[in-house]
Amino acid sequence: MKFYSTNNSTYRVSFENAVMNGLALDGGLFMPDRIPVFPHEYFESLPLRPFHEIAFDVASAFVERGISKKHLKEIIIKTISFDAPLLEIEKNVFALELFHGPTLAFKDFGARFMSQILGHFAQKLHRDITILVATSGDTGSAVANGFLGVSNTKVVVLYPSGKVSEIQEKQFTTLGKNITAIEIKGTFDDCQRLVKQAFLDADLKDKFLLTSANSINIARLIPQTFYYFYAWSRLPKRDNVVFSVPSGNFGNLTAGLIAQKMGLPVQQFIAATNVNDVVPHYLTTGDFFPRPSVPTLSNAMDVGNPSNFIRMQELFERNHKSMDEAIKGYAFTDEETKTVIGLVFNKFNYILDPHGAIGYLGLREYLQQNPEHVGIFLETAHPAKFGETVEPIIGKKLSVPEALKNFMLSIKKSIPCDSNYESLKNILLERR
Ligand SMILES: *Cc1c(COP(=O)(O)O)cnc(C)c1O
Repeated sequence: MKFYSTNNSTYRVSFENAVMNGLALDGGLFMPDRIPVFPHEYFESLPLRPFHEIAFDVASAFVERGISKKHLKEIIIKTISFDAPLLEIEKNVFALELFHGPTLAFKDFGARFMSQILGHFAQKLHRDITILVATSGDTGSAVANGFLGVSNTKVVVLYPSGKVSEIQEKQFTTLGKNITAIEIKGTFDDCQRLVKQAFLDADLKDKFLLTSANSINIARLIPQTFYYFYAWSRLPKRDNVVFSVPSGNFGNLTAGLIAQKMGLPVQQFIAATNVNDVVPHYLTTGDFFPRPSVPTLSNAMDVGNPSNFIRMQELFERNHKSMDEAIKGYAFTDEETKTVIGLVFNKFNYILDPHGAIGYLGLREYLQQNPEHVGIFLETAHPAKFGETVEPIIGKKLSVPEALKNFMLSIKKSIPCDSNYESLKNILLERR
């Protein structure tokens, strides 16, 4: 299998090249040149099989060359060292808990898989690779922790000063070793822009073996397909299944769409956002208007120009109508988010985090009109990561998992930088 650029479908590279570069040289994102399809019988066998076996089948379909089967199996086992439980919250409504990894957010899946893959390829080249990543909170922690101590790798995390929670910040500014944090005076969109600019800077590319760990890297996207297969297989009844995905950059949803193209019987996807509703707006109107993001309680989804939108368009051959049929879009305010966290706690004794709450809201909206469906919403972060929001609503203290407590006790170290590209470049060159 080859991977093509969304800017030019005749520009095709190997998996190794796509992963090492992150972004295509022409600025496009990489996509698999065909989506492998599993036969119907394959899906019937899934309920009896463990998560890591399912993940291995899916990964092997994309990674045909460059990594031996044996090595890929080891990578999968290291990636999925934790479960993704599916819990029935109320009749026909399931939470897929994706926050049982080391940083307690779903991005652990992508980051851990990618760190292993990149470490593998860098070692083959006998070079160090520098991973440049922009974060609105959870990506930075997942990537930094995923790469911590992985040989031949260095991570530089860019994050918007004052716009991530203390607990998130601690998870990538306290690690040391091969991890550096740069605190940008600006927004997450500024951070994303700076990263994009760095990749298009030939001078920098001369001096560094640079790659991205944002959801634009195909090695982050592939492991996110695994848990759609797994969750579907663990449902008691598998007809009329819908997935509701709380979305920001839409990597998670794109992975779900790919799983569906691989044959996974999913009836419908729901794109649930906070008030940064560029994609729901596109779905209803056909007009795509990126705009600066607005801060919300679900801050990992505060994205004004979702980077994976172009991949979604590719999957639907840039046809608005077919995307609109496959995906229903809904957006919710902070008020609605808070209300539903309280309601679900009181009625079902389940604690949502602000991101999962948006997923739940989208699902509830959809099921009201389609009551015969079975819904799974993705719970993307542990509620204790957002204790300052959740605790006053449910009126009780959340117990903080051990992993988070340790981060809170460590000391933050970051390099301040303004949102100007030259300033960032100087810092990178100084630290070479
Ligand atoms: C990143 C993130 C999201 C959004 O995922 P995308 O793939 O960017 O759409 C949702 N919830 C949490 C907790 C996240 O960290």
